[in-house]
Amino acid sequence: MKLDGRSAIVTGGAKGIGLAIVRRLAAEGARVMIADNDEAAGAAAVESLSGTGEVLFTATDVSERLDVHNLVAKTVDAFGSINALVNNAGIVHAADFLDLEEADFDRVLAVNLKSVFLCGQAVARHMVKQIEKGEAPGSIVNMSSINDTFAIANQVPYSVSKGGVSQMTKVMALSLAQYGIRVNAIGPGSIMTDMLASVADNPDVRTRILSRTPLGRLGEPSEIASVAAFLLSADSSYVTGQTIYADGGRLPLNYTVPVKE
Ligand code: NAD
Repeated sequence: MKLDGRSAIVTGGAKGIGLAIVRRLAAEGARVMIADNDEAAGAAAVESLSGTGEVLFTATDVSERLDVHNLVAKTVDAFGSINALVNNAGIVHAADFLDLEEADFDRVLAVNLKSVFLCGQAVARHMVKQIEKGEAPGSIVNMSSINDTFAIANQVPYSVSKGGVSQMTKVMALSLAQYGIRVNAIGPGSIMTDMLASVADNPDVRTRILSRTPLGRLGEPSEIASVAAFLLSADSSYVTGQTIYADGGRLPLNYTVPVKE
């Protein structure tokens, strides 16, 4: 197994893409700490994964520094070390630019971008201490989006936050390369989770999405989890500072493709 004996934190791991990543990392032999602010979903996730390896949950708001420090301390207590971090937690807020409230801008930026700094710095500081004691360097994956490059008019803070996540990935990779710690991002296209379900159920929206998706279908959370497993494993040992787009071909596409009924 690719991640045998490794220990990982997955933020936003109670549902959606994060839960698929937790499942995949556990199947690859990792011990996994789910960090999520939805306690009921976190408990249900741990329950659903009993028998798939060691999966624990810590209630965490990733935008709060004290929560993040508690998360790191609890993970070290439980697993002894931290070898992998997936900064996956994210939220959206739809509003036209002229109507957007300052508090909503701040909230989305705090959960989607500041959390990558808070969790990334706290975990990287711990990884550096481990390396100084002779342990192997770890790896960090940040969840970006095709909206780091594209923009959606009524998703102002989301698009801005994801642009920031891809830039954060580059600066973290450059800063941590001296320790051998690798940092990469994943840029998913449209993936079937709760975040997308409300809009993708609408036939017009579905057609709009598929007309921009050369593979002709929405993505599955497991198809993002497999990229995360690759980026956290030794299979990607010479890859750092990259955003890998798992988007069914949307980013290279100009114009649209035909949609099958
Ligand atoms: P989701 O809403 O299904 O899951 C998000 C998880 O994050 C939930 O478990 C939620 O409880 C948790 N979360 C929210 N705020 C939090 C906070 N403050 N602290 C801790 N946890 C918090 O969403 P998803 O579709 O699985 O998205 C996961 C990531 O993938 C996000 O960063 C999202 O931007 C990104 N992404 C998703 C898509 C898509 O199409 N679904 C596309 C591109 C990028």
